[in-house]
Amino acid sequence: MPLPEKYYVSYNCVHKLCKKSAEELLERIGKPDLIIGIGGGGFIPARILRTFLKHDGEKNIPIQAIGLSLYEDMGNQDTIGTEIVRTQWLDFGALEKNFDSLIGKNILIVDEVDDTRTTLHYALSELYKDINEKAKSLGRDIHDTKFSIFVVHNKMKAKRADIDESMMNGGVYLSGEDVPDKWIAYPWEANDIDDHTRRAVEQGHD
Ligand code: 5GP
Repeated sequence: MPLPEKYYVSYNCVHKLCKKSAEELLERIGKPDLIIGIGGGGFIPARILRTFLKHDGEKNIPIQAIGLSLYEDMGNQDTIGTEIVRTQWLDFGALEKNFDSLIGKNILIVDEVDDTRTTLHYALSELYKDINEKAKSLGRDIHDTKFSIFVVHNKMKAKRADIDESMMNGGVYLSGEDVPDKWIAYPWEANDIDDHTRRAVEQGHD
């Protein structure tokens, strides 16, 4: 049986989707104070997005990296459970020293693709939890801390987890494009970038 065809995406396509989405984000939530890229796929979109989220002469928006790994394991009743492990997280101490506390900030979380939504669910709830704990210890309120999420692609499929809007405090979820449930081949994973780009152009994703 032939392998299902992948959905090839060029660098240009990612760039254009980030540009278009940055305009919408500026309209809907304003300029973020901090971008958090989920590694590794969220790093390049986070950096591209930053270009379009600031106006000439303004300071660059800081980007922080976090890393999460998913492990699928068989649960007690033969159900598949997903365990997520933080492989890299925010250094709150360094952030507070060099930037500020994240309480009251406009925070944008970026990843390349929303597949089952497990990663985004986890990233939002864990960031919320950590910042809420900090806020409580200082007698402050987390409710003016806005969390938004941007993904380059959202796969149209049943999701395994939800994004809890009550944690977003007025932030938004935005995808550059909603796409069919196929494996997306990103340019930064390509061995032969010329061949990859040719396929993306043939599929109209350039
Ligand atoms: P989740 O299922 O938690 O939404 O996605 C987990 C991670 O799996 C994503 O951050 C991404 O790194 C990877 N992933 C899921 N679907 C795709 C895909 O179609 N293409 C690529 N390259 N990675 C994917």
